[in-house]
Parts: sequence; structure tokens; C-alpha cells
Amino acid sequence: MKLLLLGKNGQVGWELQRALSVLGEVVALDRHPATTPYGTLSGDLSDLDALRATIRAVAPHVIVNAAAYTAVDKAETERELAHTVNALASGVMAEEAKTLDALLVHYSTDYVFDGTGTTPWRETDAVAPVNYYGATKLEGEQLIVASGCKHLIFRTSWVYAARGNNFAKTMLRLAKDRESLNVIADQIGAPTGADLLADVATAALQQTLDNPALCGIYHLVPAGETSWHAYASYVIEFARANGEPLAVQTINPIATTQYPTPASRPLNSRLATDKLRDAFSLHLPDWQSGVTRMLMEALNK
Ligand code: NDP
Repeated sequence: MKLLLLGKNGQVGWELQRALSVLGEVVALDRHPATTPYGTLSGDLSDLDALRATIRAVAPHVIVNAAAYTAVDKAETERELAHTVNALASGVMAEEAKTLDALLVHYSTDYVFDGTGTTPWRETDAVAPVNYYGATKLEGEQLIVASGCKHLIFRTSWVYAARGNNFAKTMLRLAKDRESLNVIADQIGAPTGADLLADVATAALQQTLDNPALCGIYHLVPAGETSWHAYASYVIEFARANGEPLAVQTINPIATTQYPTPASRPLNSRLATDKLRDAFSLHLPDWQSGVTRMLMEALNK
């Protein structure tokens, strides 16, 4: 089997390089041109013609897209680029997957929802993004579904990895320098490991190749829920208990309204995962176990 992986050096892409490698030949690209057995290929999602040419040159059985424009605040002003990368490039991948009869595996976000209420969002719930990044990710989903290609779309939230930049690592850095931190306490969701996202996608895509009826949109986050404030506290307590020298004394819970950002964020990022667990007979561990593992790696414990 031949797989084309786009965005190979992002948090999820890095883990996919590992997870997909047991399935077959993986042609893994980042945004820079690369020499491959299929010629010099571009993995730049902002160049739609080059992206199409890459897919045609490789002619994969599976396309896995881990690349995205993920700078949520910057997307409010860099609209054209965010739209091309998150929406139009997904559409090109879907069209080419349809022609090749390939399976397209793609990631999306809880930011397709407006964040109201307190119950976990289901795949069938109405979408209504509150920021431009969410709107571009939603359009990407819609272009994939409309193309009629075989697809798996995993909506997730609050992604972290030992490699790459994310909230947990920012909190650790700030906790070393500052005595007091203010962290948002009224946004609720689940921190999701890039390793979990890669491993579940790999298991699910294998099953879907055997049974295309499994194609569709799935919510993928670990079990449990937390706030950014409780998540930060968990990270900092773990680091302190493991001997990290930290300056921080107080972690103050604040409201989203006290921390204005260019892009609005949904308050309720909870995602219901019953559909995924039932369809693929998978177990999702609690969020703390993945975060603990990442911290042990990041802190070399
Ligand atoms: P990262 O930001 O870690 O990785 C995204 C990757 O996309 C980077 O390697 C980046 O490359 C690449 N990329 C950006 N622009 C282009 C481009 N024009 N051409 C090719 N590659 C490009 O994101 P994650 O791994 O965390 O995200 C994976 C998926 O999960 C995405 O679909 C994202 O929308 C989704 N998601 C992420 C969340 C999060 O908290 N991070 C939350 C919910 C969903 P470079 O480093 O060169 O810019």
C-alpha cells in the first residue's frame, strides 16, 4: 500500500510518520520541495496546482492530511492564506482522492461549533464557527464530503505533543519565569495527544479500507474534560513534583472576557466520542494519562 502524508513535521504529522510506517510505503512531505522516487514534489498546500500534481505523481491509496493553517488569531487577518490551506487545498485532495478511488484522512476541529451549552457536541449537531479559522476548517470538511471521495475526518481539540509548540509547554516556560499566571477557566475541553490522533487514525483507516461504510466524520478526543486553568495547574504540579525549579506561586483562574484575543474562542469544546468508539471498537484513555506521558518525555523523567 502507498500512502501520501502531508504536513509531516507538524505535531500530528510527526506522529503519523511513525504510526503509518507499518502500513506500507509512506511518501511524507512538508511545505518544501522534496526529492522522492516519484520526482521532486511540493507539499505546499498554498500552491493548489503543485498539490494536485504531487497527488497525481504519487497516485496513493491513502492521502493523510496533517497540514493546516493553525494560527487561530493570525487567521483573522491572513484570511486568503488560511482559506487556501484549510479549505481549498482540502477540496483539491478530495477531488484527486475521488479520481484515484483513494481514502482521504483529514483532521478538523471543535471550532466548527459555536461553543454554547455544556453538553458534548455530537457529529450531527449544527455547526456555526465563531472565528475565521473555524470557518475555513468547516469549509474544508464540506468540500471533502461534497466531493464524494472516501474519507475519514477526525474533529479534535487542544492538541499537544512532546515535539512542537503547545499550551502545556508554554505554561511550563512561563512557570519558570513568573510568580503568578492568569489562565482561562471557563473554556472546557480535552487536551488531545498527537500520538493518540495518529494511532487512532491508523487503526481506523485500516478498518475503513476493508469496510468503506465506515467513512464519515468522527469526534476524537480522550476521555474526561478540563479547563485551560485546571490543565495548566495539572502540568505545573506535575513538573514541580518531579523536581523542576519553578517560580510560579499562584495560578489565577480568569474568564475568557478578561483575555481578549483577535479570534473568539468557543467556551464549550467538549466532543462526544461514542460514534468513533462504537464504529471502530476503540478505547479512548483519559486525558491525564496522555499529558503525563508527554510531560515525562518533555522533562526527561
Ligand atoms: P501544527 O501547527 O503542529 O502543524 C501543522 C503543520 O501544517 C505544520 O507542520 C505546518 O508547517 C504545516 N503547514 C502550514 N501551512 C502549510 C502549507 N501552506 N503547506 C504545507 N504545510 C503547511 O498542527 P497540529 O499538528 O496540531 O494540527 C493537526 C490538525 O489538527 C490540523 O488539521 C488542525 O487544524 C487540527 N487541530 C489542531 C488543534 C490544535 O490545538 N493544534 C486543535 C484542533 C484541531 P510549518 O511548520 O512549516 O508552518
